[in-house]
Amino acid sequence: MYPKSFKKLIDHFASLPSVGPKMAERLVLHLFKQEAEKLEVFAEDLRNLKTSLNFCRRCFNICEKEYCAVCSDSSRDQQLICVVEDPLDAIAIEKTGQYKGIYHILGGLISPLKNKDEFSLRLKELENRVKEEATREIFIATNPTTEGDTTALYIRRIFKDQPVKITRLARGLATGGDIEYADEITLTEALTNRRELV
Ligand SMILES: [Zn+2]
Repeated sequence: MYPKSFKKLIDHFASLPSVGPKMAERLVLHLFKQEAEKLEVFAEDLRNLKTSLNFCRRCFNICEKEYCAVCSDSSRDQQLICVVEDPLDAIAIEKTGQYKGIYHILGGLISPLKNKDEFSLRLKELENRVKEEATREIFIATNPTTEGDTTALYIRRIFKDQPVKITRLARGLATGGDIEYADEITLTEALTNRRELV
C-alpha cells in the first residue's frame, strides 16, 4: 500500500511512545513536504543524539558534558538529593524554580508487572553517593502511583539505620498521576510541603 521507504519511516515513528500509526503517517508525509536542507539538519541532529548526549557521572541526568548543569552548580545544596524516576521528572521540578538541591535519576521504578526489580535501578549508586557525599536528606519524588510508593518504601528501608533524613513529595498530586505532567503550582506545593517518610 505504501512505497517501501515511506513505510519504513512510518514504522519508525509508530514505534515511538504515544505515536499511533495514523499519526506516524501524517508525520512522515509532513517531513516529505519539507525542504531537503531542513531534513538534513534533522537527520544530522538525530545521528548525533547518542554521541553528543550522555548521562551525568554523578546523578545520571542527561547532559553534554561529564557532569550536568545542576551538579556543576556550587550554589546548589549538595547534601540534599532529590530521587526521581527519569530525567523528565527532574526537568519538571527544575521548571518550578523552587528546588535548590541536586538529583539522582533512578532510571525506572520497582514494578513486578514490567519486570523491573530493585536491581535494575541505580540504587547501589545512590547508596554510594549518600556515603561519599555525606548526604543530609534524601527527598523521594517518585510518582504517586503504586510503583512510585513501592520504590519510595524500598529506599526508606535501605537507609533505615543511616543518619540521613528521608522525605517524600507531599500528597496533592493526584494519585496515579505523573510528576512530568503536573502543573507548576501543584508541583511547587508538593515540593515545599514534603513530609518525612517514617
Ligand atoms: Zn548531575
